[in-house]
This record gives sequence, structure tokens and C-alpha cells, in this order.
Amino acid sequence: MVGRIFSVFALSMMIMFGHLRVANAAPEMKAEAGWPSAGLLDAAASQNLVLKTNLQWFFGGRAQRGWYLYTPLIGRLLGGDHDAGSREFAEGIYRWQQAYGLNSTGVLDRDTWMSMVVFFQAGRAKGQVATRDSLILAPESDFYDAARPLELRYVDREAYAAYKRMIDAAAEAGTRAAYLKIVSAFRSPAYQAALRRNSPNSGRAGLAINSPHFTGRALDLYVGAEPVSTSDPNRLIQINSPAYQWLVKNAHRFGFHPYFYEPWHWEYRP
Ligand SMILES: [Zn+2]
Repeated sequence: MVGRIFSVFALSMMIMFGHLRVANAAPEMKAEAGWPSAGLLDAAASQNLVLKTNLQWFFGGRAQRGWYLYTPLIGRLLGGDHDAGSREFAEGIYRWQQAYGLNSTGVLDRDTWMSMVVFFQAGRAKGQVATRDSLILAPESDFYDAARPLELRYVDREAYAAYKRMIDAAAEAGTRAAYLKIVSAFRSPAYQAALRRNSPNSGRAGLAINSPHFTGRALDLYVGAEPVSTSDPNRLIQINSPAYQWLVKNAHRFGFHPYFYEPWHWEYRP
């Protein structure tokens, strides 16, 4: 009898410790194998649906809310346009977190989002003011405002050639002619300073002191709604335009890369 009780006890202890060991080992094993469980992904997906519009973060000296305005760019980072509330999206986030050494939860939380912002911001065009020789005058017909004065129609020569190739491809893909016209190209430091004086509240994200537009290689392109307003409702219209979505998927083929915060602003960095 005592022997039987002992063996039942020993067996339960073995099961218990065996179970504990498996449980302790499980997260590491999962991380190594890279297989998040369905339960983890489902929990992450429901959190992602909330954070999509509610995550609080700061950028350009302003409080920001949610990452829903960046879903096309996030989709490109993750390699697929999955709904923010889907398991596939959570899995994409999980893999991003693994690659960047972040706590892998599948939740697009603040740390994860800020790692994406750092990624988006890396390698942006800064500095070098364009020289006269590097600029060419683009025709009025390329501009959103067909009456744009001559001194505001200069573009970097190479960026302009790439832009023309890009809009030809966009037209072939069915983008309507009103879209992707140039709203703004080269801006001289003097002109930029005047813009800032006229709109002192635009913030750091709005009118940079060291603007990529000085290079002649940054183009603001028309992607719908108010051409260059950073208000969230305005940007929501823009990111849903077929023209913007085409750019997100194709502009890199022509050497153009997005500024994540402004759907209209594209930089030529071949
Ligand atoms: Zn711009």
C-alpha cells in the first residue's frame, strides 16, 4: 500500500516537474523556432485593433494618436497588406519584433512603433543645398498649380527624370492624371524661411529648418484632399487614395522613398 502511494506520489511529482520544465522551456523554444501560438496571435490581434487608433506617441513636438495613418507603410515593412485586426498582421509584427530584438508579443505597441519610425526616418535626405547646375526648370504642366511661378519650378535634374519615368508608370497602372502632379519641389533656404515666418505654428514636422527641399530631390506630390495638410482627417483621405497606395508599392523602383508622416512628400534617393 505504502509502495503504491509512493509510486503514485513519485509519478505525480514527475509529471508536475516534467510539466513545469516544459512550461519554462516553452517560450525559448517558441522564440527559437519562431512560431507564435494561435492564442498569442489572437490576443495580439484584438489589442492591435485598439492601438491602431489609440496608441499615444510623440512626433515633431506633437502628441499623436494611433498608427492607422501608416498602415500602407507598415504593410510594406511587413510584406503584406493584412488588416490590423488579423492574425497575419500580428504575426508580421511578431516577426518584426524578433528581428529587432524587441519583446515579441505580436502587439504593435509604442516600442515597436517607435522602432518602425526610426526605420522610416533612417537615411532621409538632409543638407546639401542644390547648386544651379544640378537643377532644371520643369514645365508648368507638371505642377498641381499650373500657375506656379517659374522660380518655384526647379527640380534636381536626375530626380526629375526619375519622376517622369515614375508618373508614366503610374499612368499606365491607371492613376488619374490629376494625381502625382508636383505641388512643391526645390525650395531655397530663403524661401523656406519665408514659409516658416508665414506659418509659425506648423511645428517641426511641418516646415523643417534644414529642409530636404533644399536638395531639389524632395518632391511634394498630389495624393488627394488638401495637398499638404498634416491634419489626421486629411491624411486619412490621402493614404486611401489609389495614387498614394501605388507610390507605396512602386516609388522605390524609381528611387523615390516616402517621408512616413507626410503622404505627399517623396525623396529621391536612388
Ligand atoms: Zn515636402
